[in-house]
Amino acid sequence: MSERTGKPARQLAWVIDLNRCIGCQTCSVACKVLWTQGAGSDHMWWCTVNTQPGRGTPRDYEQMGGGYDPHGKLLLGKRPTQEEFGLAWDFNFEEVYSAGKGQEVFLHPTGRAPTWGMNWDEDIGGGEYPNAYLFYLPRICNHCSRPACVEACSRGAVYKRSVDGLVLRDEGKCEGVQTCMQACPYKKIYFNAERNVAQHCIGCFPRLEKGVAPACVRQCAGRAMFVGFLDDEKGAVHKLVRQWQVALPLHPEWGTEPNVFYIPPLSAFRLEADGAVDESERRIPLDYVESLFGSEVGAAIETLETEIAKRRRGEPSEIIQTLIAYHWKEMLGPFSRDPVEITWK
Ligand code: SF4
Ligand code: SF4
Ligand code: SF4
Repeated sequence: MSERTGKPARQLAWVIDLNRCIGCQTCSVACKVLWTQGAGSDHMWWCTVNTQPGRGTPRDYEQMGGGYDPHGKLLLGKRPTQEEFGLAWDFNFEEVYSAGKGQEVFLHPTGRAPTWGMNWDEDIGGGEYPNAYLFYLPRICNHCSRPACVEACSRGAVYKRSVDGLVLRDEGKCEGVQTCMQACPYKKIYFNAERNVAQHCIGCFPRLEKGVAPACVRQCAGRAMFVGFLDDEKGAVHKLVRQWQVALPLHPEWGTEPNVFYIPPLSAFRLEADGAVDESERRIPLDYVESLFGSEVGAAIETLETEIAKRRRGEPSEIIQTLIAYHWKEMLGPFSRDPVEITWK
């Protein structure tokens, strides 16, 4: 492993509660508005929210490869095409709003019709009636502790910074080679063809440096996102990940040691064809959730269900109290400053 992938002084992490995410895309739009409106970035969504089960963004990314093999060897997988990420949409705004045609025209896409998009298979999900199911999965760069993208970049343009463990890039060094895109198994890196550089989530570091939470976290309408340092023993992120072990990384088997963790989705019991409840099985199959979050997810679900049962009996539960987040600023860790107080340069 190269020096650039060394252990940082502290590691920032996100926890996303999949039982709170309502798939509203506010996080995606907050990120888009802030960071990816410049030249060549129309198709970029550094934060994406997909419906599970689904093919994801880019399309079928889970089959594209990358990360590390079980012996620690770096794997270069497929580099997603722009079409697989989804092209930017163009609409006939001009015709509808300025051509004076009244109700003769309606809004529709123009130009080359995209065949995929960042949320293409929204709300399709899986299973069959009466046991159909779905849940939403927000994804950003995982700012991995073993970032395959950093090791794969022969130009030294991608690095893990020490102060908070964010994986950032020096665009001045990037020559558009795109091996980072091959190496990232989560396929969270985009290529800016106009500027000939790869780009990805920057962890909103200019906000963090002013004590303000990342836009995706701060704007989350469902209060589903937490941010904080993993070593902050009083913080919600540390407690959920390390102490209670109810938050787990996506695809740990890819070997990059991600720092975005998920509270797994809980689900109702299955129904028989006659409507009777089958208490032996949940509607979201455990093997599907295990395929996403690994073999420890069953224990995490059990802990969450035990804690919910405690609350139903009127007993206290610090885990449920934390997840409900009555005091929402506690979700922001040390980054609870209001962005309106800041003078942004
Ligand atoms: Fe790199 Fe991908 Fe990990 Fe982000 S998610 S740090 S781009 S390997
Ligand atoms: Fe976008 Fe900032 Fe969230 Fe990264 S941390 S996905 S840059 S809003
Ligand atoms: Fe889910 Fe929050 Fe994003 Fe809405 S803003 S999609 S609730 S993570």
